[in-house]
Amino acid sequence: MPLPPDLIADLHLSDLAAEPQWPSALVAGAAHYADAPLRAMPSPIDGALLGHYAPATAGLVNHAVEAAHGAYLKWRSVPAPLRGELVRCIGNKIRQRKAALAQLITLETGKIVAEAEGEVQECIDICDFALGLSRQLHGLTMASERPQHRMMEQWLPLGAVGVITAFNFPMAVWSWNAMLALVCGDAVVWKPSEKTPLCAIALQRVVEESVDELSERVPAHICQLILGEQAAGERMAAHPLLPLLSATGSTRMGRSVAQQVAARLGRSLLELGGNNAAIVTPSADLELALRAIVFAAAGTAGQRCTSLRRLIVHDSVIDTVCARLTQAFDSLPVGDPRVEGTLVGPLIDADSYWAMQQALQAAEQQGAVRLSGGGRLEDGVPAGGHYVRPALLRVRGNLPVVREETFAPILYVMPYSELLDAIDLNNGVSQGLSSAIFTDSLREAEAFIGPAGSDCGIVNLNIGTSGAEIGAAFGGEKDSGGGREAGSDAWKNYMRRVSNTINYGDSLPLAQGIRFGQG
Ligand code: NAD
Repeated sequence: MPLPPDLIADLHLSDLAAEPQWPSALVAGAAHYADAPLRAMPSPIDGALLGHYAPATAGLVNHAVEAAHGAYLKWRSVPAPLRGELVRCIGNKIRQRKAALAQLITLETGKIVAEAEGEVQECIDICDFALGLSRQLHGLTMASERPQHRMMEQWLPLGAVGVITAFNFPMAVWSWNAMLALVCGDAVVWKPSEKTPLCAIALQRVVEESVDELSERVPAHICQLILGEQAAGERMAAHPLLPLLSATGSTRMGRSVAQQVAARLGRSLLELGGNNAAIVTPSADLELALRAIVFAAAGTAGQRCTSLRRLIVHDSVIDTVCARLTQAFDSLPVGDPRVEGTLVGPLIDADSYWAMQQALQAAEQQGAVRLSGGGRLEDGVPAGGHYVRPALLRVRGNLPVVREETFAPILYVMPYSELLDAIDLNNGVSQGLSSAIFTDSLREAEAFIGPAGSDCGIVNLNIGTSGAEIGAAFGGEKDSGGGREAGSDAWKNYMRRVSNTINYGDSLPLAQGIRFGQG
């Protein structure tokens, strides 16, 4: 199934769609087609073909990085509030194309329409945030110990920034990075997941049109797009003209990127896998908690980095919670994500389905008891997709399989009797992305969000582990990578801090009172 013609028109992609294959890269405003074996692009909804493309080769990666570096040399001198104008224009175009962009996310990832629209809204939100930020890239001034001296710090543009993204947020993660990088005066080279090239092409078109509209003020081609696989990502990690590489994906990928970037003393910003837990205490509002748990565990078919994977429930309520969740999981509408009312769409591909089945098998071998779901659905769902009913299992604690992130809808429920043990369970995995506690006790809440509580980057109270807003910094600790993106002061990742000491007197006093020679 090629893309519907009205969708192609709404996304302004008619010229590219007229070609026999999708491009391998969009660099310096031109489409490039690699001489490499074609890769098919099936929709996870029903396996129908959305097109083909040839993954970008090393030569194209180099071309894109060099083009971005050249653009950066001009962009860095454009005043930041004018850089914000470009982001405003991008945000307005994304607003106008919201429905079409969301439709594309659904086709390429299988995400239900409401969540796809939420993802596009996140892009719009970060554009608004970045626009405001373009007038707030503040530094500090410091008192100097020397007379007639002043010290200050400036935040200056960094260079061309590499952005590698995962399949499950094919638009939002790019926008978190690229919109901040643009107002910070950087150019961007984006390598999206090989599974979601069309979402990237559609956004790149938005950027190109915005650059054209503002051509009098914007040096052309600040953003480059490479549609490649792991090899293209590795080439970016090694490239000396990318002082910062922001990479989102599995912990396996992050380890590789971190080592390559560190070997050339570059900076990496890593947003990696999660293994997120929520604690349900005896005082929790169970109605509220159950709604939050079902969305966090089953939403996006369990394919969010912040999806809820472990539920730690007090002994006194665990039987009730398990019974209510079993009921909820059994009745979740699973099916075609384009159909209104569907809450759980397909898994991204067959590999993902088999990884889920292997995890379920291992869990049962390790003593887990399955309460609900996990099997393939054939009836009432489009043929050719991988549809599963979300799985609910009761376990004794962090079994070996529970410690791994399985990127599918599996929720392991485990008991606790003392809050300190629950916190130990929460922290007892190698990942540290998101966590939550459901409680009406101030003491329990503070224990969880304080220094001896959850060791994650995101620690929530009475809401689930997923569904973050862009205003706060997003990211996790330990194997989740340590990076922070989006709101708060995450923009500092995309700039270099320069410390200035200014002498406005006519003598040269040295710091620390040092006397050197005649002075
Ligand atoms: P993945 O690691 O397979 O791929 C992610 C991206 O990295 C892709 O663009 C891929 O081509 C590239 N890549 C893979 N190996 C690479 C290497 N050695 N060097 C350079 N680039 C490489 O991940 P995925 O299956 O697309 O996404 C799911 C994973 O991403 C999950 O682990 C999920 O938790 C994580 N994720 C994390 C966040 C976050 O913000 N923490 C957000 C979304 C997804």
